[in-house]
Parts: sequence; structure tokens; C-alpha cells
Amino acid sequence: MTREECAALDAADPLKHFRDEFALPDGMIYLTGNSLGAMPKSAPERISAAVNDEWANRLVGGWNSARWYNQPTDLGDGIAPLIGAGPGQVVVGDSTSVVIYKAMAAAARLRPDRRVIVSDLSNFPTDRYVVEGLVKGLGGGYEIRDIGDLGTALGDDVAAVLLSQVDYRTGARRDMAAVTAQVHAAGAIMVWDLCHSVGAFPVDVGDADFALGCTYKYVNGGPGSPAFLYVAPRHQADAENVLSGWYGHAEPFAFEPHFRPAEGVRRFAVSTPHVLSGVALSAALEMWKRVDLHAVRAKSVALTSLFIDLVEAGGDRGLTLASPRDPDERGSQVSFLHPDGYPVMRALIDRGVHGDYRAPSLLRFGFAPLYLRYVDVWDAAALIGEVLDKELWRDERYAQRLAVT
Ligand SMILES: *Cc1c(COP(=O)(O)O)cnc(C)c1O
Repeated sequence: MTREECAALDAADPLKHFRDEFALPDGMIYLTGNSLGAMPKSAPERISAAVNDEWANRLVGGWNSARWYNQPTDLGDGIAPLIGAGPGQVVVGDSTSVVIYKAMAAAARLRPDRRVIVSDLSNFPTDRYVVEGLVKGLGGGYEIRDIGDLGTALGDDVAAVLLSQVDYRTGARRDMAAVTAQVHAAGAIMVWDLCHSVGAFPVDVGDADFALGCTYKYVNGGPGSPAFLYVAPRHQADAENVLSGWYGHAEPFAFEPHFRPAEGVRRFAVSTPHVLSGVALSAALEMWKRVDLHAVRAKSVALTSLFIDLVEAGGDRGLTLASPRDPDERGSQVSFLHPDGYPVMRALIDRGVHGDYRAPSLLRFGFAPLYLRYVDVWDAAALIGEVLDKELWRDERYAQRLAVT
């Protein structure tokens, strides 16, 4: 495909107008939306209003009049359509790691006669670290079983399974409905991590028991924006929040001496929300109300497939595709292995192509369809070709490691 053909695809793109709603520096091809999404231009305005009007003038009155108090469930209702959930099923707050802890503890308690928690060593490390901490804290003979193959890991001793739908390294995507059914057939609770799914394509939580994720990647909620937790309606009366803070209480302002859980998903709220982060997220969610997620998926498949084709068209340059070739099995990212991945990525970033690097040799490129164009993919592939063909990455400046890669 030529650059002109890419420009024609951009002109016909039903999502093209969304790019103007994001702040993107000139000359930057941002392929790291799977790590931190771009900033909606409406966010600074919304934050400024929250600070200069709500905080400055209303002060404590903002809890009522600006609905700060309702943020956990208001934002949850905004996330719900992105994951195929309904109102009253999602609560927003805390960080992903904390939400994983709450979800897994609740899942274990729903199967009190079982002692195994299944996780996946290839999952994002914090998911695994949190389960290690939880199992230690639970005592009572709990153990972790790591899976390679889910079928052999499942048994009548398994209380809960935690998996990411999309692999953060390779972008490989699991069939949520099939896996959930398999886990339920074994009598266990299914907890999905949707960090690399939400906002990348339409998600359907389906029969899942719990689902969670962050909002700063494809959702564009801003650095450190709060995480979300979906609790299936059938569990809302029984599931318990181990972090039983006052925000999950039935009547926080009754100041009762003992915890009494709120009805519904709000019982999974813990404490005073991070209001300003929530405000930034609300700006992104306002935009998402206007987005057709099926168009997002169609464009994501087209962008990732085009990227693979263009990069591979340059012949063997030491790159090996690490992502599934079949788009049905892929999320919205493409990864390649390269033995000198770190200096290659530094050289790319120097030329405006912002992917990221994960040790020991992975180059990751995320494709956020709301603000990426086909011509960006073409230009990125051309620059990758130049950096590899001319071995520009051998410049010694690129060998020194930065703290965040
Ligand atoms: C990004 C990501 C996280 C992030 O965890 P935080 O607690 O928000 O730092 C966790 N799990 C997965 C699978 C992720 O992709």
C-alpha cells in the first residue's frame, strides 16, 4: 500500500473527527496508547472548572452539588457500556492493583471450600504479585496454581481464576466467553483483567463474575486515573469487600461503629475518591458516549494488519512478529522481537515513533483508533525500516538505559 492510499483511507475513516479532539504533539507518532492514552482536549477545561469553580467556590459543598460523592458509581456507569455491562454494575476507584486484590479476595470468599487460585505467569506482573500477597494474607492453606494450559489447571479445588483478556506483551487475545464457560464448568469464579481491552474494542463481560481494569490506557482517562470493577448482578448481594472502608458502607454518613455493606456495587467502593483524577476520566467518558466501538475494532484490525504488512514488506531485518497474525486473536497492539530491542526503540523514539520496549527483546506498538491515522502507520513503518536498514540504532547514545522504558 502507498502513502497516498493510506491518506485515502484516512479521508474515508468514520472515526477521523476524533483525532481533532485529542492533544497530540506535532511530529509525534504515538504508538503507546496502550500504556498511557492521549489527552482529550476537553480534559484541561473540565479539570479547570472542577478546580476553579467546584473546589475554589463550593468547597465542601462540592461533595453534593458537583456530585463528587457519587463519582465512584457515576464513572462506573460511564465505563459500563465499554465492557458490555449495565448501570449499577461497575464502580470506579483505587488503582488496578488494589482492585485486583478486592476482586480476588471476594472471589475466594464466594468459594470458601476451595483453596486454589489460578493465575498466569505471563500476566502483567502486578496481577501475579497481588495474588501472592493475597494468598499469604488469607493463610488457611490457600495456594496459587500457574497455568500454561487452562484445561489442566482447572479442578474441583479451584476457587477463582484471574486472567487478562489481552496479553500485555504479545497482544494475544483470549475468547472471553469460551474461557468463562470453561471456568464455570469447573465450578470456579472467573475474574477478567481488561486493562488492554477496554476502549480498544467492544468487550462483553458476558457471564464473567468480576472484571476490572485501568482507565489510563485506551480509555484516555489521564495519568493515574482510577480503576474500575465490574461485579455481576448475581453476586452483588453476597460478594464481600475485604477493604471495607466507609465509602462501601450502606450509610457512610450515619457513622455507625461497624461495617454494614451498601446494596449493590457501591459496597466495593473504599474511600474518598481521587476527585480530580475522576474529573479527567469523566472528560474521556463524555467522548466515549459518541464512539461506535465496532468502528473502533474495525479500524484497529485494519491499522494493526497494515502495520504488520508494511514492516514485513521490508524483508528480514532481525524482526520476528510476536503477536498473533490472525486479527481475531489480537488486541490492538503489535509486538516484534528484536535482539537489540532497547537501542532500536530509543532510535525510533528519537525519530518520533513512540512505541515501548519490554525486556528482554520486545518492541511494543499500540494502536489507538480514535487518534491514529493510516498515514501514521505508513510513516512509522518507513522509519522502522530506515532505523533497521541503516542500523541507526547502533549509535552509542541509544545503549544507555533510562529508568522507565
Ligand atoms: C496496566 C496494567 C496494570 C496496571 O496496574 P496499576 O495498579 O494501575 O499500576 C495491571 N494489570 C495489567 C494487566 C495491566 O495491563
